[in-house]
Amino acid sequence: MITTQVILKKGREKSVLNRHPWIFSGSIERIEGNPENGDVVDIWNHKARFVARGIISLKSQIRVRILTWRLYEELIDDKFWHDRIRRAIEGREALEIDPATDAFRLIHAEADGLPGLIVDRYGTWLVAQFLSVAAERFKPVIINTLAELTASQGIYERSDTHSRELEGLVPVTGPIWGEVPPDLIEIEENGFRFLVDIKAGQKTGYYLDQRENRKRIMPYLKGNEVLNCFSFTGGFCVYAAVANAGRVMNIDSSEMCARLAEQNMLLNGFGHREDIYITADVFEIMRAYRDQNWKFDAVILDPPKFAHNARQVKQASRGYKDVNLLGMKLLKPGGALITFSCSGSVSEELFQKIIFGAAVDAKRDVQIIERLSQGTDHPVLVTFPESAYLKGFICRVW
Ligand code: SAH
Repeated sequence: MITTQVILKKGREKSVLNRHPWIFSGSIERIEGNPENGDVVDIWNHKARFVARGIISLKSQIRVRILTWRLYEELIDDKFWHDRIRRAIEGREALEIDPATDAFRLIHAEADGLPGLIVDRYGTWLVAQFLSVAAERFKPVIINTLAELTASQGIYERSDTHSRELEGLVPVTGPIWGEVPPDLIEIEENGFRFLVDIKAGQKTGYYLDQRENRKRIMPYLKGNEVLNCFSFTGGFCVYAAVANAGRVMNIDSSEMCARLAEQNMLLNGFGHREDIYITADVFEIMRAYRDQNWKFDAVILDPPKFAHNARQVKQASRGYKDVNLLGMKLLKPGGALITFSCSGSVSEELFQKIIFGAAVDAKRDVQIIERLSQGTDHPVLVTFPESAYLKGFICRVW
């Protein structure tokens, strides 16, 4: 088999040499050969020096996703996928042996050297997202390896994301290996139980990346009234109840979330509380509370991704500032603002500047008490800063 050669423009190999795993179409001088979508290609600089090996995606702006920087040793064969997947699974050892947690991310795409592949473990089930042509093309070996290396009952596919469209791939969902999972899977996280809708829920069904943070914020939720914005299926609400917080007001725009949040509270023995579940727009409800002069002891802000790319950062910053300004205004003096951004394009530094802007406008003293990030099963690859996407602050607002 003759490998296709991708030759980079002069001066465009720097990011590849710095082990960033994406090559954009604009960096490519020419392609020698006639590759099919998903073929393995070798990447050369303009002086005919080998720089990396990856997989070509003919319709995507990210034209090549790099898999290896080693010339002879590493071929992209079944063994390659097997070794990479095993490496990722081994990296979750600490979670694997934690008896209080049976749900975590097994494979975190580029950060695990597996571009566009996400695999979450929910108890005995796996949920996979094949979000790149690279992952799609090698789906059979990936599925076989996952089946071999994990003791799963079945694997369910949730490749229904916008990023797949950017690769020219159609959305696909459904069982792909083993038994068909039930609609709701019960998982354990830090000793607490949650129902996860892996077939219709957002992403793969649950936000595993907040696992450690849910626990970390508990000491700050002791007050009487907690406002849990973007509450999803009540993750933070359960932990607030465990922390003995008073009434939690949960707000999420998705109807299904309120129902599951209530079920999750019941599942953990919190059927007797006076928490409230509101299906509405967070911004509208917060403005209404501000106008009524309501005050809370703690406000949690865990919004969806406001910026999907660098071009959206300015607009997203406005959104983050608005919501944080409202959050500060709704807090009693000394109250806790627990605020997150999951936009990879908004750095922690920028997020802190946004909080600064909100504090100035709110005319409040805001102290950062703790800095939060994504869970340990969502590693950050240092040469791929985009993989550091979740950042958060626990603030005291005076
Ligand atoms: N805190 C949750 C995850 C939140 S994900 C957890 O720990 O599990 C973001 C949530 O925001 C989603 O459930 C989505 O339905 C909701 N959402 C998005 N835009 C919204 C809006 N404008 N108002 C209310 N909820 C919104």
